[in-house]
Amino acid sequence: MAGEPQADCLFCKIVSGDVPATVVRTSDTTVAFRDINPQAPTHVLVIPKAHYPDAGALAAAEPLIAADVLREAAAVAADEGNADTGYRIVFNTGSGAGQTVFHAHAHVLGGRGLNWPPG
Ligand code: IMP
Repeated sequence: MAGEPQADCLFCKIVSGDVPATVVRTSDTTVAFRDINPQAPTHVLVIPKAHYPDAGALAAAEPLIAADVLREAAAVAADEGNADTGYRIVFNTGSGAGQTVFHAHAHVLGGRGLNWPPG
């Protein structure tokens, strides 16, 4: 069923606590934790607790939770001191765009200069 935990999903296992993570924030609907392979001084992933394969699927099924992910991403940036200097929220969507974990997640990147366009 849409939104239900998937047995083979790494991020569902982080939500359940079966896989450890460095959690920095939680809300009723989201978990934020540090990326295991950080690409910037701030590199935090914000995920919905519910399983949807990507950001578009999440927004279509649960727009309020998609908004929660964005609000929590901004809160992470503020917590990390990036609100004034700037930060980036990225949703890689599809393998061609670099998505490797098919549980919707926002990357929050900050703490260094960020080039545009991204690679
Ligand atoms: P994607 O490539 O946009 O799907 O992002 C997946 C991210 O998950 C990558 O930046 C990985 O470094 C990160 N990642 C993979 N496994 C773990 C983990 O166990 N804990 C935290 N981050 C992870």
